[in-house]
Amino acid sequence: MVMPVLKCPYLAQLTLQQVRASAPNILNTGAESCPIFGQFVRKLSTTVVNNTASLNVSSSLSSMNFDDIKAVHENFLGRKTSNKVTIPTAINKTANSYGEIVISTECEDLLCPFLKTTPITLRRFNNEQHTNKIHQKLEKIINPIVNYTNLFQYNNFFDEKIEAKKRDNSYRVFKRVQRKSGLFPQAEEKKNLDDNKDSRTITVWCSNDYLGLGQHPKLKKAVIDAVTLHGSGSGGTRNISGTSPLHEKLEQQLAHLHQKESALLFTSCYVANDTTLFTLAKALPNCHILSDSGNHASMIQGIRNSHVPKHIFRHNDIEHLEELLKKLPKHIPKIVAFETVHSMDGSICNLEAMIDVAHAYGSITFIDEVHAVGLYGHNGAGIGERDHVLHKMDIISGTLGKAFGSIGGYIAGNARMTDFIRSYGSGFIFTTSMPPTVLASALAAIEVSMSDEGRSLRRKQQENVRELRSKLIDAGLPVIISPSHIIPIHVGDAALATLLCNHLLDRYSIYIQSINYPTVERGTERLRIAATPYHKSEMIDKLVDALKHVWQDIGLTLKDVEQQQQPILMRHHA
Ligand code: PLP
Repeated sequence: MVMPVLKCPYLAQLTLQQVRASAPNILNTGAESCPIFGQFVRKLSTTVVNNTASLNVSSSLSSMNFDDIKAVHENFLGRKTSNKVTIPTAINKTANSYGEIVISTECEDLLCPFLKTTPITLRRFNNEQHTNKIHQKLEKIINPIVNYTNLFQYNNFFDEKIEAKKRDNSYRVFKRVQRKSGLFPQAEEKKNLDDNKDSRTITVWCSNDYLGLGQHPKLKKAVIDAVTLHGSGSGGTRNISGTSPLHEKLEQQLAHLHQKESALLFTSCYVANDTTLFTLAKALPNCHILSDSGNHASMIQGIRNSHVPKHIFRHNDIEHLEELLKKLPKHIPKIVAFETVHSMDGSICNLEAMIDVAHAYGSITFIDEVHAVGLYGHNGAGIGERDHVLHKMDIISGTLGKAFGSIGGYIAGNARMTDFIRSYGSGFIFTTSMPPTVLASALAAIEVSMSDEGRSLRRKQQENVRELRSKLIDAGLPVIISPSHIIPIHVGDAALATLLCNHLLDRYSIYIQSINYPTVERGTERLRIAATPYHKSEMIDKLVDALKHVWQDIGLTLKDVEQQQQPILMRHHA
């Protein structure tokens, strides 16, 4: 097909994407007015297309000769040159792929003299504010055949859900905290993303870097050495190019720490819990799960997704657990899942008794030691080590992200069990393995944890926890008494808990995060404080003093020690 050698000056101003987008529309509705498209359509209609009803070329146009068209174009180009108009980049963004071109008013003069008279929509916008509206409109005109009135309104749905969170004060606004190496347990609050603006030093009382290992010189050196030697990422999943000697060393080290045959790494303990419980429950024939009512969301998720029958026992209530176990046939597989140190009320279960009951009824135990590893026991292996029952624990899960100062999770147990999860656990198999920096840091953390230094850090942490807890109680704050390092203060109202936390930060440069639903049940909202070995006595005094003030300032009352009540904890459950 021979086309006239006439470049369309209008299309030449558009991007290729815009030309592609507009061509079908011009062909369908504008060919009558455009000599270039007109030529094309006339040719097409006589050679290929029989039904040209929608491609009629107007007689006036077809009667124009090449020189006439060229003259019009030259006129058009002349005007364009004199106006020196450039097409703003916004145009590129707003051209859609359905034949409509969004064009700014500045470009009005660039409109093709022929197409100007056609029904083609050449939309205009005056400023940026209109862009969004245009986008919304474009979304609607994407396919004119579809009736958009009855379709699901996704954005409305999201808006409503977010509004509901805001209404019940459970909408989360993160505090922006920049940890500074060497400053722990202090850090910088960043009001502004810009590094140098509006930042100030605050004391952090809610970090899960319980021993401050995240800034330990040995961990930092391990990270630097690892990145120098091995670079950044791991390069793949464990199966495809992502298993290094560091992975295997760390798994051996973790198995050794927990006195187990084997350990398996995950990218977090959330993933470890979810994957392990899901995979086991799903695979074991007729499996039932017995789950503590206070279990963490990661366990709940795995249990829920497995769809196996579940039985929830009251938090750390051994009699209730036994009552439920008695009702189940002895021969079927059962998993009893619970935490040793509870993350939100700081309680510690009677580990040996729980395990013994579970075993007496033919269950295996899945025990989350996330808030205990690094912190309890001679080597920091957790409550299992402290209570000398490591040999009784079937599956232990732990994190590298809290007391071990890094990120990642793991399970430890017998070799057949870990090999089974390694072979069947989707959350283990189908994800990139942990990078060398993280592995090296975790190896260093465990080394510290198993050394005298680790023991001394744990001792100091416990001393500080004791000092803080007794001073808070003496001040009349409703401390939830717990035997662990976690000190919760009951507030019982999301808005008040948030207000307390904001006042502490704004007025006293103290950061304690309020804990609201869904992390805890509604009505049990609290402040959760974690003292580390590095909090000084003066910091403790300053905290207690500040808390007393903000507590009263927002209308809450301080109580005598005897009057203090403890709320019953029940975490949401599957
Ligand atoms: N288990 C408990 C009890 C937790 O509190 C958490 C996290 O806060 C996890 C598991 C998940 O651990 P990770 O942070 O490594 O994903």
